[in-house]
Formats: sequence, C-alpha cells, structure tokens
Amino acid sequence: MTDKIAGPALADWIRDFIAGQVATSPENSLADGSGERAFDQPLVGFSAGDDPLYQEYRRHIGDFFWTPAQAHALAFPDDPAPASELTVISWILPQTQATKDENAGQNIYCSRRWAAVRLFGEKFNALLRRELAQALCDRGVPACAPMLLPQWKMEISPAYNFASTWSERHAAHTAGLGTFGLCDGLITPLGKAMRVGSVIVRARLEPTARPYADHHAYCLFFSHGTCGKCIPRCPVGALSEKGHDKNKCSRHVRVAGKEHNQREFGLEIEGCGLCQVAVPCASHIPAPEEGL
Ligand code: SF4
Ligand code: SF4
Repeated sequence: MTDKIAGPALADWIRDFIAGQVATSPENSLADGSGERAFDQPLVGFSAGDDPLYQEYRRHIGDFFWTPAQAHALAFPDDPAPASELTVISWILPQTQATKDENAGQNIYCSRRWAAVRLFGEKFNALLRRELAQALCDRGVPACAPMLLPQWKMEISPAYNFASTWSERHAAHTAGLGTFGLCDGLITPLGKAMRVGSVIVRARLEPTARPYADHHAYCLFFSHGTCGKCIPRCPVGALSEKGHDKNKCSRHVRVAGKEHNQREFGLEIEGCGLCQVAVPCASHIPAPEEGL
C-alpha cells in the first residue's frame, strides 16, 4: 500500500485524474490523424454503494443486475466489502460540437465522426476505466470497473428487453448526473450526446446530490407533455410516444449501422445516435420552451 488518500482529498484526486486524462491522453482521439479529440471535458459524480436505487434497479431489471457490492465481490473475491464501504464513481464524456453537428446532418446512418467516437472514443473510455481503477489500487484503495469484469454480459430483462449485468447510465443517474429521456438516453447537464463510464471504489465519498426526484425529470415529454422531437429523428420508427422499441433500434444500430460503418468508413463498429442530436436535449437540460 502506498500513498493512500482519504475523504474529500480522494474525491478531488479522482476528479482531477479523470479531467486530466480527458485533457491530455493521446487516446482521447478520433484516430484519424487530425489530432481532434473524441470528447470534451467531463462531468463526474459519486453515488453511495448502499444507495437504495441499486436494489431498486435489481428489482425492476432482473436478478442478474449487479449491486455495487456484488460487482466489487466479483473483482475481489477474497476480500468482499459491505455496500456501505463502497462508492460508485461515474463520469459523462460529452461529444464535441463538431461530432454533434456532423451527426445532426444525417438522416439514416451515423456520420464518420460519430462512428469514430463509438469505436476509438469508447476505447479511450475503457482505458479510462482501467487506468482509474489501477491508479486507485496502486494507492491502496481497491477499485474495479464493472464493465471490464469478465463476468459482465448482456442479458434479457423480463420488463425491459435488452439489458446487462451493470448499467453505466443507471449508475450515472444514481450519482445525480442525469435522468432518462423518451428515447432511453440519459439527459445530463451536458446533454445526452455523450458516453458514460464508472468505477467502484472501496472508500466512502460524499455522494453527489440528485437534483431530481423522478427518473424522467429532464425529458420535456414526461415533465411537460411536449417535445417528442427525438421521435421523427429515428429512421426506423423505433421511437414513439410509447417510448423506445429496443428490437427495432438494435436491428438498425447493430446490423444495418454496423454494415454501413464498415462499408463507408472502414470502421468495424455499430452505431446510429440520430436521436441524440438535433434535439433540445442534445447538449443541455432542455428548457420548457424548447419543447414547443
Ligand atoms: S428530444 Fe424531447 S422528448 Fe426526446 S428525450 Fe429529449 S427532451 Fe425528451
Ligand atoms: S439510436 Fe435507435 S432509437 Fe435512436 S435514432 Fe438510432 S435507431 Fe432510432
């Protein structure tokens, strides 16, 4: 054990680490030789490992869904920790304006920049998860990235169809970073055109306040009965006033979108994200008048 940090100093160190990686890592890149970054500066939030929302997700989504204590125990089977000793660190990596503008001009498939972020930006996000967890472990604070655990997998939820053993968006919601929209995207203060990540640390950090009581609070469709502007953005009719048809969306994103990105850009990656841009919630929490 070396250089163990505690309390507010650890929270500041974590925020600085994430912001520093986003600002300086050569991996935060579109990998096209332009030097253009994949992501702008992040938002960071913390949620308590024993926040009751994690049990609630498990009840709603399915028994396969991990609580922070279960994920931590998978990473450290010889030294599991009670939920009360854990904190989930979540971050939001916002798309750049150039990427959002480019994808806003698309009508069927995503743009080159969007596909590059999905591939190379997400590789950076995985590296950020790994390096933050390792840096904490190096300082004597056990930490793991649930998405990088070999046991992480996709599952089918009886209530929600496609799901997985850990959800970055649900962790971010718990950490006060956003609420869900009609299209299922997480609307954050930096908008819903973003990627999200998390690491679980065995340290008690002050949880970030949740400035909402409802999981749909920032979506104008749910809060004001207006907007719905993501509905016509979807090229395959996967969005409606009833919500998000995950089967239709998945076919477009994972099959047609993947073929398109390979054929047009030489990038082996799925993608779409048309409903995340050219809408009032793309870059911020939308104001009521934006839904009219
Ligand atoms: S575009 Fe409007 S209806 Fe769709 S998620 Fe955003 S705020 Fe909600
Ligand atoms: S990501 Fe899915 S829901 Fe959104 S526009 Fe594309 S296909 Fe439609």
